[in-house]
Amino acid sequence: MKLLREARVDLGAIASNVQTLLATAGVPGMAVVKADGYGHGAVPVAQAALDAGATWLGVVDLVEALALREAGITAPILTWLHDPATDFSPGIAAGIDLGVSSLPQLERVAAAEGRAFVHLKIDTGLGRNGADAEQWQLLVRRAAELERAGALVVRGIFSHLAGSPDDGLQVQRFRDALVVAEEVGLRPELRHLAASAGTIGIPDARFDLVRLGIGMYGLNPFCDGRPSAEFGLRPAMELAGRVVAVKRVAASTGVSYGYTYRTAKPSTLALVGLGYADGIPRHGSNGAPVSINGTRYAVAGRIAMDQFVVDLGDDFAEVGDRVVLFGDPATGVPSADEWADAAGTINYEIVTRLGSRIRRTYR
Ligand SMILES: *Cc1c(COP(=O)(O)O)cnc(C)c1O
Repeated sequence: MKLLREARVDLGAIASNVQTLLATAGVPGMAVVKADGYGHGAVPVAQAALDAGATWLGVVDLVEALALREAGITAPILTWLHDPATDFSPGIAAGIDLGVSSLPQLERVAAAEGRAFVHLKIDTGLGRNGADAEQWQLLVRRAAELERAGALVVRGIFSHLAGSPDDGLQVQRFRDALVVAEEVGLRPELRHLAASAGTIGIPDARFDLVRLGIGMYGLNPFCDGRPSAEFGLRPAMELAGRVVAVKRVAASTGVSYGYTYRTAKPSTLALVGLGYADGIPRHGSNGAPVSINGTRYAVAGRIAMDQFVVDLGDDFAEVGDRVVLFGDPATGVPSADEWADAAGTINYEIVTRLGSRIRRTYR
């Protein structure tokens, strides 16, 4: 079937990336499938990652976690960002592990129905959630008390790296936090700090478990211009639209809203049925790359809500031809990194922001 908008996800690539990253890490791995699997589809990605050897799943909140359970996924799941009013009881009943960042949150988890499995979070320097060093003393002491009383189990202690030159300092602060937890009697089974970049770049950050996000999807976590193939990773998603109209125009023809582009010579224009409503960044106007029938072209003029134009010069295309925006550059198509550069963002955002009109297909 010809789809107007298709994100084709290669689950074999997901599996291969998981295996590569687990081999690098040498410790168990959590497949992070928040935000609908970074736009790839949380359930199929989760299943592929678990089949490939991941033993945990990570999502951001309980809504995402419960959706995985509803889809029949029984693997351990951790969730770490909670609505201040969250009722934790359904999550505990569904066997979802809870990231806990503060004392009030810990009390609410302990007061919820059932015995929760928690992962206490220390802020080692990212400046987001997690207890700071001072609050950490109180948090672990109270958690140890609640654990002894049978109200909850402290299964993990975790933190998250900033990807800064201070990552080494964060690793040290994490070690210090583990010592403080041990002093009050906690013996967490899982200490985890590294996401994809830490897994690849900081052996000291791997501890008992690594949390694999962007690398599992086959994209370079460092966003530094290196192809992900350098890390043995293969981009899993290929985003494609279709040519929906073709026309021959004269030189100096204005293209799309505001005429920010004019043809340099008589040219063929192809209209593609994807736009910013689909998450195609408007900042990619005038320059972001596409591939049609194996040849590269650039977006001409402004990307609109539902469509954009490509200048084919003297080439021709048929209505219905497939237009690849990005995929695995090893197959000759542009990469998500090129779109990120064109739009002034990072590969994470390019894949994650894709909208619901784009059909996800799997092979
Ligand atoms: C998103 C996220 C990850 C995964 O990060 P990647 O850089 O995509 O590998 C890991 N841990 C936490 C806490 C996250 O929020």
